[in-house]
Amino acid sequence: MKALIYVEQRDGKVRTATLEAAGAAAALGCDELHAVFVGDGLAADALAGAGVSKLFLVPPSDSYSPEYHAAAVAELARDGGYDIVFFAATQRGKEIAPLAAVGRRAAFLGDVLELAADGGGVKAKRSLYGGKLFGWFSAPAPLVVTTRPKMFAPASGEGEPAVEERPAPAAPEKRAVLIESHASAGGKVDLTEADIIVSGGRGMKDPANFAILEELAELLGGVVGASRAAVDAGWRPHSDQVGQTGKVVSPQVYFAVGISGAIQHLAGMSSSKVIVAVNKDPEAPIFKVADYGVVGDAMKVVPALSAEIRKKKGG
Ligand SMILES: Cc1cc2nc3c(=O)[nH]c(=O)nc-3n(C[C@H](O)[C@H](O)[C@H](O)COP(=O)(O)OP(=O)(O)OC[C@H]3O[C@@H](n4cnc5c(N)ncnc54)[C@H](O)[C@@H]3O)c2cc1C
Repeated sequence: MKALIYVEQRDGKVRTATLEAAGAAAALGCDELHAVFVGDGLAADALAGAGVSKLFLVPPSDSYSPEYHAAAVAELARDGGYDIVFFAATQRGKEIAPLAAVGRRAAFLGDVLELAADGGGVKAKRSLYGGKLFGWFSAPAPLVVTTRPKMFAPASGEGEPAVEERPAPAAPEKRAVLIESHASAGGKVDLTEADIIVSGGRGMKDPANFAILEELAELLGGVVGASRAAVDAGWRPHSDQVGQTGKVVSPQVYFAVGISGAIQHLAGMSSSKVIVAVNKDPEAPIFKVADYGVVGDAMKVVPALSAEIRKKKGG
């Protein structure tokens, strides 16, 4: 199968989630892997070693518009006869991919967790009902897929792709355009790309108590997340929120501290590889999904855990 990867970059570097989308294509057995980048400023060697043999560069529009990106991808997918177009299920991937699927007149499978070849198409595992169920879907080629970050190993391969310039798409109808953007505070690793997340909820009682979560996260090389209750209380920014109306994350380890485990929270973190819950209520629903659980007061358990880790690290 012939696959096209939509490339996202941040600070001149290809996003890990894009490399994972390319990894998903390679693992699926796509023998021809090409990529497309819409915009300026991608380093020429940015996709070196990612197993991609050709990189198409499309000039940017004067301001970011999902319709413009989707038209560029759909036109290329059609012209090049690609069987599958891969996007990472990032904020941007989620808004462009469905539009590109319509433009290409292709099937669409969003936020995919696993993929397998199925005749001329694919079978894809997806989360249903906010993570309560998983379902397998099948779709024939051509199709557009978005892959959930942290679910696929990043692509690897030899050499650098050949670069080919593409013209701007023919008169895309731009409806939504970006007027201005502001970097979120802190410049920390995006939650969706973090390997370790230490999240706190209403059980943290006070924003100052998040310091013990920051400390644990720093010791483990992770980042801090939050439940909606903590965000709504103004304790954490919305960019930290995990869940149905926040971010969907799949880290190696997810700590849920003082979080009850409401279905809307689980929708954002139940595909984490290992879940550790700290809660003083032994009946808290979070323990139903946790791999490891500690029943106790977060204010005692978390500092004790940090102290142990520091000891192990010899600090
Ligand atoms: C449409 C909709 C969308 C939503 N989207 C989201 C979303 O994206 N993300 C999200 O998180 N929620 C979301 N919610 C809200 C969700 O339903 C819950 O209200 C929320 O997740 C609860 O947050 P919490 O677990 O921090 O608080 P609570 O449910 O109040 O739980 C606090 C927990 O802390 C424990 N605790 C208290 N003190 C301590 C202590 N000292 N040590 C240890 N544990 C302690 C308690 O036992 C309790 O289990 C959404 C709701 C709706 C209706």
